[in-house]
Amino acid sequence: TPRVFSGIKPSGGLTMGNYLGAIKRFVGMQGDMQTIYCVVDMHAITVWQDPAELAKATREVAAGYLASGLDPAQSILFNQSAVAAHAELGWIFNCVARVGWMNRMTQFKDKAGANAEKVSLGLYAYPALMAADILLYHATHVPVGEDQKQHVELTRDIGKKFNHDFKTDFFPETIPVIDGPATRVMNLRDGTKKMSKSGESDMERINMTDDADQIAKKFKKARTDPDALPDTMEGLKDRPEAKNLVEIYAALDDRSPDDVIAEYAGAGWGKFKPALADLAVAKLSPISTEMARLMDDPAEIDRILANGAVKAREIAEPILQQTYDIVGLLRPA
Ligand code: ATP
Ligand code: MG
Repeated sequence: TPRVFSGIKPSGGLTMGNYLGAIKRFVGMQGDMQTIYCVVDMHAITVWQDPAELAKATREVAAGYLASGLDPAQSILFNQSAVAAHAELGWIFNCVARVGWMNRMTQFKDKAGANAEKVSLGLYAYPALMAADILLYHATHVPVGEDQKQHVELTRDIGKKFNHDFKTDFFPETIPVIDGPATRVMNLRDGTKKMSKSGESDMERINMTDDADQIAKKFKKARTDPDALPDTMEGLKDRPEAKNLVEIYAALDDRSPDDVIAEYAGAGWGKFKPALADLAVAKLSPISTEMARLMDDPAEIDRILANGAVKAREIAEPILQQTYDIVGLLRPA
């Protein structure tokens, strides 16, 4: 059976982008396939994190998974650092991946900016660790947002090069699963940038912990053009901010953007934005309420993550052992 792996970094609080582009889709795959969802804390520390905040954000991502409908009885839920095999395979993949490949990663260029000499080596190498996260489970399907496509393709290249270098077919081909209307939710203040947990301004994102007033205020202040909505999505081609808000509406309401634009054809922002805010509150507040309830009992979250780590290790250990054997590293079984 095909195996699904994906993860979210505890590099801050979850956003609506993480929910629509990742978690909601993780839930949709649960049950049909074996699903493994990780809180990738070792990726978070590629930029400095306050230790207490990191622990809290790790539990918050886990709470977001659970509150959205991921079920520890159906999916393996754990945090990356609890399964040492990620770091171990990550090192081997550092030795398989080429520097030139890393140099082509657009996310590194975006995140490092003009500061490429001063960022951590881990930030540069992180796509090789991500390849290890996935291939450690021989996962074939990786649901991600559009921004992660290049990294999942790199995973495939690393697996292929390993297979070629060691004359094996040990690692399977991995495909990025990028579908639905919200695989790239944009920033509410700048329609050319994606919404991110680590973005500078809180006004540019909806956090999963925002209350109804904050959600309404952020949509009200969201940047738009002055024009009314057209009657087809085609009419939003050169209006990134407007297009984003319609797509968010569609994703929240499980409808197609065409359907939403047909309903709101001719409407101004004074009508559309409050409707969008109401919809967002209706869909997100049950999740944030449940997240808050779960966060009141951190020991329970830790227990769920610890159980998930045991199950993850059962799959990962034999694959790591075989990888060591293939490479010629002596490792007492
Ligand atoms: P950071 O700013 O720290 O990189 P992030 O918000 O980009 O945080 P990640 O942990 O890097 O979150 O990504 C987790 C998952 O959420 C990935 O699958 C990613 O593609 C998806 N994702 C992140 N932002 C968006 C977005 N704006 N729209 C859709 N999917 C997104
Ligand atoms: Mg990111």
